[in-house]
Amino acid sequence: MSVIEGKKAKEILKKAEFIAVLTGSGISAESGIPTFRGNDGLWKKFSPEELSSFEGFYRNPAMVTEWYRYRRKIILGTKPNPAHLALADLERIVAEFYLITQNIDRLHQRAGSKKVIELHGNIMENYCMKCGKVFDIEEFDCVYEKFEDHVPRCECGGYIRPNVVWFGEPLPEEAFSEAYKAAVNCEVFISIGTSGAVRPAADLPRYAKYNGAYLIEINPERSYLTDIADLWVKGKAGEVLPQFVEEVKKLKGMK
Ligand SMILES: [Zn+2]
Repeated sequence: MSVIEGKKAKEILKKAEFIAVLTGSGISAESGIPTFRGNDGLWKKFSPEELSSFEGFYRNPAMVTEWYRYRRKIILGTKPNPAHLALADLERIVAEFYLITQNIDRLHQRAGSKKVIELHGNIMENYCMKCGKVFDIEEFDCVYEKFEDHVPRCECGGYIRPNVVWFGEPLPEEAFSEAYKAAVNCEVFISIGTSGAVRPAADLPRYAKYNGAYLIEINPERSYLTDIADLWVKGKAGEVLPQFVEEVKKLKGMK
């Protein structure tokens, strides 16, 4: 059975040379990454705002630092799934391709994707709130070891925080503007594993559609986007995306 249904969808994908993709937590969940807190015993008693906001960090930087170290360890123990790998494959067969993600786990890069736009930052980096210096995992762990209170500080004295977007914080301007450009200029926009409810990321598929792109949604369940999508491929990304990419290759005469 084909996942790309309809003559129009086939015609458009056959010709498309500029594809933009938006991925959300659904694709990470298929790699075993809990969407936010999962059922992590110790952390269950804290609200997402306490663990992931500037105010929460300000009140208890040691706790928030531990929480992100814990999350990072879980993420480093997971692997890209067939959906991540299929997207890396899709990038290789079209001339212009952007992968916009709301995920912070860097699984797309580990799968081999090159043009990744991170709307919410990534958990593998930390930065100094005062001077902006960026610390990768090794550098961060090295500084972390030096502070008995588990609150690592930069040489300049500033607090070091994860490079992720917290509740109430704006998206990184450069990343969002790059994503916006991709959305309004692409021929096909594919939204994968996202609810379509969290703005402003959820506006991207709408911008794409209103600027003439063909909008495809890949999701096991209906979302806020389903009604405006030109094609809804119903299913888990890890199950339907590999086949979707194979079908695109066939349409393009690559198989
Ligand atoms: Zn600093």
